[in-house]
Amino acid sequence: MSGLRLRIVVKGAVQGVGFRPFVWRLAQELDLGGHVRNEGGAVIIEVEGLRTAEFLTRLGQEHPRSARVDQVAFEPCEPLGESAFNIRESRQGSRPDVIPDLATCPDCLRELFDPASRFFGYPFVNCTRCGPRYSILERVPYDRAHTTMAAFAMCAACRAEYDNPGDRRFHAQPTACPACGPALSFSDASGAILDASPLKLAAAALREGLILAVKGLGGFQLLVDATRADVVARLRQRKHRPDKPLAVMTRDLAAAQLCAHVSPQEAELLQSPAAPIVLVASKAGALAANVAPGLLEVGLMLPTTPLHHLLLRAVEFPVVCTSGNLSEEPLCIDNAEALQRLGVVADRFLLHNRPIRRALDDSVARVIDGAPQVLRLARGYAPLLLPMAGPPAIAVGAHMKNAPAIRVEDRAILGQHVGDLENTLALDALRQTAADLRQFFHAVPEAAACDLHPDYGSTRFAAELGLPVLPVQHHAAHALACLAEHGLDSALAVVWDGTGLGPDGSVWGGEFLQIRGTRFSRVAHLLPFRLPGGDAAARDARRALSGLEGAQGPSAPLCSSVGRLFDGFAALLGLCGPQSYEGQAAMLLEAAVAPQRADAYALPLADGQLDWRPMLAAARKERETGVAAAKFHNALVEAILAVARTVGEQRVALCGGCFQNRYLTERALRRLREAGFAPVIPRRVPPNDGAIALGQLAALTGDADVPCRARPH
Ligand code: ZN
Ligand code: ZN
Ligand code: FE
Repeated sequence: MSGLRLRIVVKGAVQGVGFRPFVWRLAQELDLGGHVRNEGGAVIIEVEGLRTAEFLTRLGQEHPRSARVDQVAFEPCEPLGESAFNIRESRQGSRPDVIPDLATCPDCLRELFDPASRFFGYPFVNCTRCGPRYSILERVPYDRAHTTMAAFAMCAACRAEYDNPGDRRFHAQPTACPACGPALSFSDASGAILDASPLKLAAAALREGLILAVKGLGGFQLLVDATRADVVARLRQRKHRPDKPLAVMTRDLAAAQLCAHVSPQEAELLQSPAAPIVLVASKAGALAANVAPGLLEVGLMLPTTPLHHLLLRAVEFPVVCTSGNLSEEPLCIDNAEALQRLGVVADRFLLHNRPIRRALDDSVARVIDGAPQVLRLARGYAPLLLPMAGPPAIAVGAHMKNAPAIRVEDRAILGQHVGDLENTLALDALRQTAADLRQFFHAVPEAAACDLHPDYGSTRFAAELGLPVLPVQHHAAHALACLAEHGLDSALAVVWDGTGLGPDGSVWGGEFLQIRGTRFSRVAHLLPFRLPGGDAAARDARRALSGLEGAQGPSAPLCSSVGRLFDGFAALLGLCGPQSYEGQAAMLLEAAVAPQRADAYALPLADGQLDWRPMLAAARKERETGVAAAKFHNALVEAILAVARTVGEQRVALCGGCFQNRYLTERALRRLREAGFAPVIPRRVPPNDGAIALGQLAALTGDADVPCRARPH
């Protein structure tokens, strides 16, 4: 064969997503010789023939949607006269990436509802472009024998597809069909198997208003009819979750649009392979009012597995879909464990016999300022790989929304959301997640990083590792995580959250940090106030208010937390007293904001401190709650602008849990841009404590010259 031979290197999320069979088919179609193989984290292609240019163009345009192509590099090489095209096995010693689970792809979905397909109605259909990955992985390399599918022997039809390079199921490790794969079962809370048609019974249970536990992709979920306030109330009562918003699953995008205002970008995010819960503006009356009480947004998601597609099409209503755990405990993943632990919550169980190897909560994301942002990084996103230079290391995260991270070969790998480290089960989950990351990515850490707070469970875990441990100040870690994601090494970081130990021993949380590499200086902060009960104050917004009012003696700890400032103002405006979930007062205060107001309370900056006292006095006299809430938010935004002008750094990073507040974040971004600044927010990692481990890793440069990263210079 004559023509050109090209060597093409494709980087990005290109392994385990059907990329090689796609390349094989394209090469066949264009009559090209050569081969394709995985190497390291990349796909290497050599093609030879007359239509190599067309191949390059279509490679970029037509690749599977579950793949993410970051970079395509190519160079001509010596033609070998090859006319056949092969998929080569990965080279010895090469390490294909461990990749996240993927929601059902359009092709599998078609087969699922096609009566002529052998996958018709099969709840576990999948292919190289979709299906379970990380949730079923036992060990690497990713191969059927190393997953929980090992126990299922492929039938002849499945084997033939698995072996055919032209098939969508070529090397689809979890492939299965009704003849050879996992199957459903249905039971009551006692574990007694009830009937031979589990899906029908499950749908009937939902229609009757019962609480259904479903074994999903990354763990059990609890489902109820989302249009009935009485059954939602029963779920809340049994789960001990009085107010925290619940996510809702709809059968498809059209059904989602009946419940909420879904923008085209939000629709894209809902339908993406990660298929997260997406926060969208709810429509009044479409769902029971107690799904997301007092809030303007609701978390929606589309079916993530064939099982969910089948179940949601069997009922005529959207369903609440919340994690199958008791509050504060990790997700249940095992049938027996679920029956035991969730028996007090669920009336019925929709089970199956494909084991889940690790718990992955549903991820949460949203579109903000015109682009997606992850708020909880779990199913579909974890493990997340980002470039980050530095020595091999491990970081253990903070206390809330914990997630560990490792670094190996100049890449940081952030693990899935573990949760709040409130009990030994959660700490065990942290240990296991860290162990998984080390094993799967062949990491041999030389150092560990943890939070500066000595009493966090994660900090004690770091001490057990037998490595040199670097404590990293909490808000510096927030800032470094955001900068690492954007590849920046300096910025003014506005880090606002609920709590984090400062190097001076007080509680920080309203910080302006100037970052240079891994050093930081605290250029401004919220005027500190005394917080009765310390961290426990987060559970009752009125405590923060009494702290702001100066009713506290000198024994109460000092704090500069904007999160607690939000609490205090919510209490002042009568929006919240005791909080039954983290962030409740702040979310209610945001929801109360009167739209289209530009005026703001005075929040003067003096000696590097933002003095909230005039704002407190003015809010007390305000007659309308909505106006007070707007002027409070606007004051915070203007304060950001004032500090940014003083510091004069063009790059401004907004991070910390307070920037989960949409109004605050979008307004701050707009005002900063209008004033000529270049603001950034975390996008691929959460703005909250879920990203702390990434920032801790970034602080571990291995550079002996940096004196102490735990303290400002
Ligand atoms: Zn598929
Ligand atoms: Zn089969
Ligand atoms: Fe934080």
